[in-house]
Order: sequence, then structure tokens, then C-alpha cells
Amino acid sequence: MIQTFTTQNTQPIRPHICIVGGGFGGLYTALYLQKYRHLRRSRITLIEPKERFLFTPMMYELITNELKEWEIAPTYSSLIAGTSISWQQTSASAIDLARQTVTTSQGETLTYDYLVVANGAESRPVNIPGVQEHALTFRSLEDSQRLKVRLDQMVRSLSFENPLKNPRMPIPVTIIGGGASGVELAGKVSDYLGDRAQITLIESGPTILKAFATGLRRLAQRALARRKISVLTETLVTNVTAKTLTLRQGNTEQVIPSQLTLWAVGTQPRPWLGEGVPENDYGQRLTRRSLQLISHDNVFVLGDSADVRGRHHQPAPNTAQAAFQAANRVAANLAALTQGKSPKPFNYLHLGDMITLGIGDAGLWSFGITLGGRLAALSRRGVYIFRMPTRRHQVKVARRALSESLNFLKANSI
Ligand SMILES: Cc1cc2nc3c(=O)[nH]c(=O)nc-3n(C[C@H](O)[C@H](O)[C@H](O)COP(=O)(O)OP(=O)(O)OC[C@H]3O[C@@H](n4cnc5c(N)ncnc54)[C@H](O)[C@@H]3O)c2cc1C
Repeated sequence: MIQTFTTQNTQPIRPHICIVGGGFGGLYTALYLQKYRHLRRSRITLIEPKERFLFTPMMYELITNELKEWEIAPTYSSLIAGTSISWQQTSASAIDLARQTVTTSQGETLTYDYLVVANGAESRPVNIPGVQEHALTFRSLEDSQRLKVRLDQMVRSLSFENPLKNPRMPIPVTIIGGGASGVELAGKVSDYLGDRAQITLIESGPTILKAFATGLRRLAQRALARRKISVLTETLVTNVTAKTLTLRQGNTEQVIPSQLTLWAVGTQPRPWLGEGVPENDYGQRLTRRSLQLISHDNVFVLGDSADVRGRHHQPAPNTAQAAFQAANRVAANLAALTQGKSPKPFNYLHLGDMITLGIGDAGLWSFGITLGGRLAALSRRGVYIFRMPTRRHQVKVARRALSESLNFLKANSI
């Protein structure tokens, strides 16, 4: 591709910004770029194979039917309508930094002036026998659909049982991983199945939610206890079958029944798609404070696949919160670079943590304040609606939340 350059500097007149990955890092960068008037003439290509963006923090609400798929998984075509973003529904298969090209899995080669890579993370493979075959993961829309099918099958099979012949035994369900995802899954699955299930949450460390504030952890422990969810800490899973789990606590091993096993442990950054670039031990690309790749001024990396550091070299977490804050900085730095200005450093600001603890229940912690219960659930929903991509989508989701609340008030004659 032949580029046209201005006479004053070396910036292309109509730069091509290519973005790999349409998650919190990539999609939000593309959307934030729309704020800059001088970039209206630039070409912005978003390379993303999936049809729908996924607002992962609210995926749990699909289990309990509190939210519909369109609310947390809007299509890319609806999100980019009316913007200057052109979406290519394909994967990037190779990046050539020297030639400034991205090759797609359909064999097309795109030449870029600026590249943004935010290809995220994936489940980390484990070598515990049976996990791959028998445990369900919960990271994608397909995962949530698979889990819903399993839960509905379990509910249906119970309703066909004759309670006189088979006095109802709760179905054993096990969730492996006591981080945010495991705890959130436990609350929602428990509220969906009610007393038809006995849920066990298994954590290898001494406590659940170890990365969270004490107040939030206590709220979660109380919410799990109210739902009679057993929590086993310092427990390792050593084997998984279709109907059992083998657990090791110290030197003791025991086999417990598990009709449904959910795996909520461990991710790894998706690999870089070209010649080696500097990475940390975990496989994340090293960045400068401006989020540029160490070796290349015109390449930005962000999100779960990037090692992003703050002023005092502290790492930003691998969260949606960090990714969309970084997206704002990447867009501002691209806007600066395309005007021949210097990029600025990214400073991650931890605004707080929010977790769902079941239907109409949540915990949140922000700047030292902890809140639980229905108010926290409402605040969480409000904040997340506000964080969804595009004003148009936010309004659609907010409208449904409002009409649902009005129906609730009417139905309860409040
Ligand atoms: C169930 C769940 C709940 C979560 N809850 C929270 C929460 O409450 N709060 C929070 O802050 N974070 C939460 N997270 C974490 C959050 O989702 C991630 O930190 C965030 O999505 C990272 O953004 P990203 O842009 O790096 O990656 P992603 O958002 O994962 O986006 C990566 C994108 O790249 C695409 N891609 C992959 N390979 C290629 C390729 N070769 N070519 C083109 N595209 C490619 C993928 O399809 C994907 O769309 C949660 C995650 C999960 C799974």
C-alpha cells in the first residue's frame, strides 16, 4: 500500500490504525478514537473473529436469566454502526513488525501505520486427569450457553423423578477456584438451583478471594454460608470424572460425588503472533509506560496480554477495568502520535471491586468503603451499564433495567 505523507512531518495524512482483538482493550480503543476530530479521516480496522462483544463481568446474570444475551453480548455490527471503524470478522494469524503488516486467517495481508494488539487471555491448560473432559469452563458466551443447557437438564430430570420413590437428594455441584469467578458462579448457580443442589467451592489456598479487601471477602463468605455452600480451602483437586472428584487435603485423599464440575482457575495470555517480542515470565508483552511495545513506537499492546506497569513499577491487574482505562490512554496516545506529539504515560487507577453474590445480592468495595446486599447489586448494575460500549447500547440496556424495576414495583404494589 502506498502511503501519502505530509511535507512538514513524517505522519501519514490518512493513517491506517489496525486493532487486533475486539475485547475491552481493542474495541474500547477503537471507540475512544472516535472522539478525535483529526482522526476522522484515518482508517480504523478492527480484526475480531467473534460476532459479538462480551461484557464478561455480567456473564453470571445469564445463568439466572436476570439479563438477556443481547444485553451483555451486543453484535459488533450494531456497536460500530455510524463510526469510522471497519470490522473484519476474522483472526489475525501473523504480525510482521518489520514490514508493518497483519495477515488474517483468510490470507489477506493488511499494511498498518499504527498497530494495537489486545488479543486477551485464554484458559490455561492443566494436567489434572479428567478436567479437560468433564469440567466446564466459564469464559465465553458458548461456555455460558453450555452451562445453561446442563443446569436446565438437571432441573428437568429432577422434575420427572417421583419424590415418593426417590426422596429428593440434592445434586452435588462443585466449583473449583475460590477467586472472584468461582465465588460469583457459586452464588448464581445456587440461586438458580435452590435446594435442589449441594454446592461445594474448592480453593487450593488458605482463603477465598485472596486478592480482595477483607470487608468484601467477609461479605462473600456470609453470602456463601447463607446459601449453604460448603467452602473447602487448602484443598487440591487431583482427578475429575463425570460423576466424582478426587480431593487432597494435606496427606488425605477423598473422593466426592459431583454431577456438575465447573473450572474457574487459571488463564494465560494468548501468544504473540509473530517474531519474538520481549515478554515477562507469564508470557505478557512488555510495554513502555505509554503502552507502546518496548521495541516499536507505532505498536501498542494492552489488556490481559500486556505487562502494564504504573509509576512505581507496580503491575496493573488483568481486568476489564484496567483494559478499558488503558484503551482510553492508547487512543489519546495514537491521537498525539498522529499529530506528531509525544505520547503520555498510562496511570492505572484502581476504582474498586464488585462481585455478584447471587440474585439481587452483590458486594462492592471502593476507596475503603464496603457495601453489600441489594443496594450493592443495584449499584453494580448501574456502574456496569455505564461501562458498556456505546451510549446507544447503554440506553437500550438501561431502559430494560428500568422497565423491569417498574414491573417489580407494580407487581409488589410498592
Ligand atoms: C467470566 C469472567 C468474568 C470477569 N469479570 C470481571 C469483572 O467483574 N471485572 C473486571 O474488571 N474484569 C473481569 N473479567 C476479566 C476481563 O474480562 C478481562 O480482563 C478483559 O476482558 C481483558 O480485556 P482484553 O481486551 O485484554 O481481552 P478480551 O476482552 O478477552 O478480548 C480479547 C479479544 O481478542 C480476540 N482475539 C483473540 N485472538 C485473536 C486473534 N488472533 N485475532 C483477532 N482477535 C483475536 C478475542 O476473540 C477477544 O474478543 C472477567 C473475565 C471473565 C472470563
